[in-house]
Amino acid sequence: MARLLSSEPQKEDDSLVSLRPSKLDDYIGQEKIKSRLEVAIKASSMRGEVLDHILLAGPAGLGKTTLAMIIANEVGGNLRMTSGPVIERQGDLAAILTSLNSKDVLFIDEIHRLPHPVEEVLYSAMEDFQIDVIVGKGPGARSVRLSVSPFTLVGATTRSGLLTAPLRNRFGMIFEMDFYTVEELARIGKRTAQLLGVKIDDKSAIEIAKRARGTPRVMNRFVKRIRDFATVKGKDVLDKEIIEEAFVSMQIDKNGLDEMDIKILSKIAHDYKGGPVGLNALAASVGIEAETINEVYEPFLLQGGFIARTSRGRVLTQKGYSVLGESLI
Ligand code: ADP
Repeated sequence: MARLLSSEPQKEDDSLVSLRPSKLDDYIGQEKIKSRLEVAIKASSMRGEVLDHILLAGPAGLGKTTLAMIIANEVGGNLRMTSGPVIERQGDLAAILTSLNSKDVLFIDEIHRLPHPVEEVLYSAMEDFQIDVIVGKGPGARSVRLSVSPFTLVGATTRSGLLTAPLRNRFGMIFEMDFYTVEELARIGKRTAQLLGVKIDDKSAIEIAKRARGTPRVMNRFVKRIRDFATVKGKDVLDKEIIEEAFVSMQIDKNGLDEMDIKILSKIAHDYKGGPVGLNALAASVGIEAETINEVYEPFLLQGGFIARTSRGRVLTQKGYSVLGESLI
C-alpha cells in the first residue's frame, strides 16, 4: 500500500472506515480510463521508466483523488498530496519536488489554481526532472539548478478549460472523467454498505443510486446517512422504507435534486422567464457564489438535462420545467 505523505486532511468524510478502493481492479466504472491506465502502468514498469504525468479532469467527487492513490499504489511509489492554492511560492513547490523519491506520485488537486510563477517551476520539473530556483535577493540573487527524482505528476481539475496550454501539453495522458451510471453507483453503494457493516439488496442500492447525481461521493454520503436512520431504528438493513424516510428527511427528490437545485431552476423559470441568464446574474439572485453554481450545482443540472447552456446563458429545459411542475406552454 502506498504511503501517504500529506499533512492535509483527507476528503474522506466522517467515518474511520476508508471507503476508497486501493487497487485498480476495485475501482468501479471509468472503464476506458482504467484500461488505458493499466496499459501505461504495465508498459512503464516493463521499460523500467517512470509513469507519464496524468491529468484527471471532471466534477468533484468522481474519484480523482482515489485514482491518484491507486496509481501510487500500482507503481509502488509514495503519494504526496497537495493542492494548487496551497502552493503560494516557487520555493514551496521546490521544497516538495526536491523531497520526492523516484516513482513517487505528486498529486496536485485544483491544479488550475496554481499561481503562475509556481506553474512555471513545474514545467521543467515535469519535462526534465530539473528545476531552477533563485537563491538570494537583489543584485546578489542567482539561479541554481536542482535535480528532481523521476516522479509522476497527477493533476486534478474541476475546470480543465482554465488550464494553460503549456501545462496541459506537458501531461502524457489527459483523462476526462464521466459521471457514473446508476448501475455503477449501485455497485459502489453496495461495496460501501458492506464496508460499513450494513446489508442492502440490489433494488434498494439502485433506488439510492438514482438520486446520487452520477457521483460516488454523493452515493457514499447517502449510504452513510441512510445507515444512520437504520441504526436509530435498530436495523442493519437499508430497506425501502428506511431509504424513503431518509430521502424525505434530507429533502432530496426522486431525481436527486436538493433544495438548492430546485431554487436555481425556479429562479431561472420565474425571475428570468426560463432564461437565458448569465452565471453572475443567476448567482446573485440565488444568493450563492457563481463559482459554487459553476462547480457544484451546474455540472449535474446540465448533465441531467434540467438546464442547457447557450451562448447567451443558461436556459431551463422542458425537463427542468417538468421538475418544477410547470409546462413550457
Ligand atoms: P474527487 O477527488 O474527484 O473529488 P474522490 O476521489 O475524493 O473524488 O472520491 C470521492 C469518494 O467516492 C471517495 O470516498 C471514494 O471512496 C469514492 N469513489 C470515487 N470513485 C470511486 C470508484 N470508481 N469506485 C469506488 N468508490 C469510488
